[in-house]
Amino acid sequence: MNDRILKSVIEITRQRDIDSLELSLVSTLAEFIPVSAIALYKSLQNSSADKVEEVVRLSVSENNENGKNYNWSSEKQVVTANNNVHQCFQSAAVIRSETDDGYTHLLYPVFLDHKVGGVLSLESHEILTPWHTLIEALITIYNNYLAILNESERDKLTGLLNRRTFDLKLDKLLQAQREKQATYNASPPTSEKRHPEAMSCTWLAMLDIDNFKSINDTYGHLFGDEVILTLSQKMKQNFRNSDLLFRFGGEEFVVILEPTSPEMAKRVFERFSQAIAGHDFPQIGKTTISIGFARLMETDYPHTILVRADKALYYAKEHGKNCVFNYDELLANGLLSEKQTTGSAVIF
Ligand code: GH3
Ligand code: MG
Ligand code: MG
Repeated sequence: MNDRILKSVIEITRQRDIDSLELSLVSTLAEFIPVSAIALYKSLQNSSADKVEEVVRLSVSENNENGKNYNWSSEKQVVTANNNVHQCFQSAAVIRSETDDGYTHLLYPVFLDHKVGGVLSLESHEILTPWHTLIEALITIYNNYLAILNESERDKLTGLLNRRTFDLKLDKLLQAQREKQATYNASPPTSEKRHPEAMSCTWLAMLDIDNFKSINDTYGHLFGDEVILTLSQKMKQNFRNSDLLFRFGGEEFVVILEPTSPEMAKRVFERFSQAIAGHDFPQIGKTTISIGFARLMETDYPHTILVRADKALYYAKEHGKNCVFNYDELLANGLLSEKQTTGSAVIF
């Protein structure tokens, strides 16, 4: 037993990104603890207080050969937190309850940056008291390692994802899209109507603050940093939790927008650019951003998509700034050519 636990700890700390770490924690708990279900919930930044994100759920059932069947659901979804989950987030204490049909339900707080960032839920038909120490030890190992991974994935000033983690996050996203597409191809909708997702696709946008150098030159770097920080906070408020937000370089940001139509993508980015243009930055007053975005195809290389979005951004910079351009639209209208070289300051 001790050997197996040690191996599991090694497996948990082998993970190099937070999503894999979470799956590893849940599968380790399910291996040792007699549970019927485990779920991990995370708090959401810009949703109503009773909503949380279910990042992973595992249901365990016995099969006829005395083994276990594992049923994973790792597609993140927003769910309504019940009273107990809510209480666990609020109190930062372990919450225990019994359901009418004889289940023990245990909720453990998960910490990030000294706050409750998540809640781990365990359901079982058995009394889990003998397993408390092991559960708490595994959660503590997870918490400690989560803090390290979080620091390595995020930009220090803004808390957005950093440039280093971009390739990994994009690879995962494209992989998930390929799997979705394969499921869709295997059983396409029978009706004549097109599947809504067939019309939508993922988008990658590059955002760059206009004339930022003059903000630094006029007011100093500290005020420049303040603008970067405010912009990142507005990104977190304006975009969805399922969108990926990166600080790519000094005053450059990347947004990967979950699947939507070209028109909606443009509207979302224009709305954000207007929100920034309308904001009063302390001391500095008004500032604007330019945005270039491009369709993210499953078959593309990350570098190709970045170059396309960057070309559209460069076009925006050359055409008055404080505007938003879609690479495909520029191409279709003959305003850009595939071969045109990029002249932006983005360094690949
Ligand atoms: P454009 O409208 O064409 O984007 O002009 P710009 O002045 O914004 O662009 P440019 O790339 O010439 O200047 C970006 C400046 O951002 C240069 C650099 O001094 C500054 N910068 C880069 N990183 C940081 C940072 O972390 N904090 C602050 N305050 N400034 C930074
Ligand atoms: Mg700039
Ligand atoms: Mg720049």
